[in-house]
Amino acid sequence: MPNVITSSGLQLNATYSVEEFQSIPGLILESWGPSTRNADYNKALDVLLERLQAAGFLSISVNIISRDLVRAFPDFSDRAIKIDGEEILLLEAGHTEELRTAIGAQQARLKVNPDSKGGNRTKRILLHSSLISPQDWIQISTGSFNSAQLLKQLQEPTADNAELEVRATALIRSMLEVPPGRAKPASTTATSTVYARDPAVKAWVLQRADGCCELCDCSAPFLREDGLPYLEVHHVKPLAEGGSDRISNTIALCPNCHRRMHHGQSKLDLREEAVRKIPRLLQESSS
Ligand SMILES: [Zn+2]
Ligand SMILES: [Zn+2]
Repeated sequence: MPNVITSSGLQLNATYSVEEFQSIPGLILESWGPSTRNADYNKALDVLLERLQAAGFLSISVNIISRDLVRAFPDFSDRAIKIDGEEILLLEAGHTEELRTAIGAQQARLKVNPDSKGGNRTKRILLHSSLISPQDWIQISTGSFNSAQLLKQLQEPTADNAELEVRATALIRSMLEVPPGRAKPASTTATSTVYARDPAVKAWVLQRADGCCELCDCSAPFLREDGLPYLEVHHVKPLAEGGSDRISNTIALCPNCHRRMHHGQSKLDLREEAVRKIPRLLQESSS
């Protein structure tokens, strides 16, 4: 296994590997062992956290993966290092040593026998983040990570909506210059599943709503060009998930509630709220 090497070329007595642990890619840092094995563990962790921060990553997760603890706590998240209850640890410039100390303190807390006195800090850890690929980890571990390259990758246009979301979310967290964008974005012809929907179902639900959002009871925010109140019709269980195109699965919503049902923090709770509030939905949700 390679050793962590500082930016000034000093080889630390601390070994690591870049690999997948239970299919989560990351960097495994070996804890210090008896006698002099991995004696520079703390220094190595400092170097790695600093590199992550310098590379432009804003957070990292750390899990303990020592064999005995994996056996005692099979659930991955039971072995997560949490700071202020959060598994996402923030990487702030100038505070990486503080973070390393906090990680060490949390490491000491997790033990096979919780009643045993003293903390055993000699534990292998996995550093990971969904934004860091195995290739990135190799570059981070050797100090050759190119953050400009990552930014460039993230700014590649994509026709895939889900991918667009992932990239934009990653970019929100980094310092961006005003992007030039593209006057004529490239287009591709994609095939996607579309559903033939019943106009009568849509019309009936809109009639029934009578100009008010069925979730928040607010009036439609504006009138359509044809003078009718503007509301959007939503399938409580999405058609793509096997939901029906019947009035027992369809509601009229104001644009805010509609976006919230799709993108809000508690959309499953909202679904339940809708079902409780609108009796005609009961039939479908219980079948
Ligand atoms: Zn509403
Ligand atoms: Zn919808």
